[in-house]
Amino acid sequence: MTKDKIWLSSPHMGGTEIKYINDAFDNNWIAPLGPNVTGFEADIKSYLLGQEDPSIEVAALSSGTAALHLALILLGVKQGDEVICQSMTFAASANPIVYQGATPVFVDSESETLNICPVQLEEAIKERITKGKKPKAIIAVHLYGMPYKVDDIHKISEKYEIPVIEDSAEALGSHYKGKQCGTFGDLAILSFNGNKIITTSGGGALVTRKPGLKKEAIFLATQARDEAPHYQHSQIGYNYRLSNISAGIGRGQMEVLDKRVSGRRDMFQFYVNLFQNVNGVEVHSEPNDDYFSNHWLSIISVDENKTGGISREDIRKSLELENIECRPLWKPMHMQPVFKESPYYGTGIAETFFKNGLCLPSGSNLTDDDRFRIKKAILNCFNK
Ligand SMILES: *Cc1c(COP(=O)(O)O)cnc(C)c1O
Repeated sequence: MTKDKIWLSSPHMGGTEIKYINDAFDNNWIAPLGPNVTGFEADIKSYLLGQEDPSIEVAALSSGTAALHLALILLGVKQGDEVICQSMTFAASANPIVYQGATPVFVDSESETLNICPVQLEEAIKERITKGKKPKAIIAVHLYGMPYKVDDIHKISEKYEIPVIEDSAEALGSHYKGKQCGTFGDLAILSFNGNKIITTSGGGALVTRKPGLKKEAIFLATQARDEAPHYQHSQIGYNYRLSNISAGIGRGQMEVLDKRVSGRRDMFQFYVNLFQNVNGVEVHSEPNDDYFSNHWLSIISVDENKTGGISREDIRKSLELENIECRPLWKPMHMQPVFKESPYYGTGIAETFFKNGLCLPSGSNLTDDDRFRIKKAILNCFNK
C-alpha cells in the first residue's frame, strides 16, 4: 500500500472563504472586479501597514508574475534596458524582464539570508555603468520568506538612484526591523499562487508607494482603455486583474494569515529540533533579531564532509521513497539554459546552496502523523 503523499506546501483553507464566494454568487459579481477585490486590497493594505501609513496602495492582480510585469512597465523598463535580478530565485522573478525586451543581469546571493548580495550588487552596478548602461531596476527577493538585507540593499539603491522591485511573493507575514515585507520596495509584489503561504488558487498583488501609481497599474491591467464612450486605446494594455471569486478566497485567507505564519514557523522549529544533534546539517535560520521569516519553506543545507558521507541527494531520495515531497533549492537563473547569455556577477554562493540545499515539507496543515513520518524517513537515512 502506498502511503498518502506529504506535500511540500499545500493550500490550507480557513473556512470562511466560501462565505465570500457565496456573496459573489448571490450578488452576481462574477467578474474581475467587485466587492471582494476591493475588500481584499483593503485587507492586504491594513495587514501591511496596520492602517497607519496611507502612502501605500494595493492592486489585486491575476498573478505575482503579472504584478512584476506591471512593476517593470511602471518603472519605464523598455527594449534594450538592463535590469538587475537576484540569481537564486524562481524564474517568475526574471521572466517579465524579458517580456519587456530588456536583459536580466544576475547577481549572486550572500550566505546569511540566501538573497541578493550587497557586495556583488554594487560591483554589478558599477561595471554596468562603466559599460555605458545604468540598470533600470533591481529585483530583490525575500527567498523562502527570509527578508533580504533590506538596509544594505536599499542604501545601494539610493546611492545609485536605481529603484528596487521587492519580490515578496514568498514573504507575506515576514518582517524586518518590525516592518512588513512588501513595504520596502519602490514597488513590491505578492503572490497568492496555490503553494504560497496563503492562496487565492492563483493571484497576486502590486504594492505601490507613489500616489497615482495604483490607478495607472489598474489602467494597464484592464486593457488600457481611454476615457471615451467607445473602446479607445492609446497604449498596449493587459488583462491582469484578479477575479472577484478568487479575491473571495483571499479575503477568507487573510483572516487566518497570522495562524498560517505560526504554523509554518512551528514546522521550522520542528526541523531545528530534529537536526540539532545531527552534524553537517544546517537548518537555515534568521541571522539575528532584525529578521523575522514566515518560513514559507524550511530549508536545510547538507555538508557531506561532516555528515559521514550522507549527501543532500541521500536525504532527498529517502524522503521520496516514503512519498514525502521535497525539492532542491531554486536553481539559480544564471545556470538556466534559457538565461545562459545573460551577464552574471558572483562568487558561487548560490551554486553551492543549489548543490547542497533541500526544501522540506513546510505546510501549516501538516499533522503529527506527517511529522512522525518525515522524522522517521530522515533519521533512517542517518542510521543506516
Ligand atoms: C511564486 C513566485 C512568483 C510568481 O508568482 P505567481 O503568482 O506564481 O505568478 C514570483 N517570484 C517568486 C520568488 C515566487 O516564489
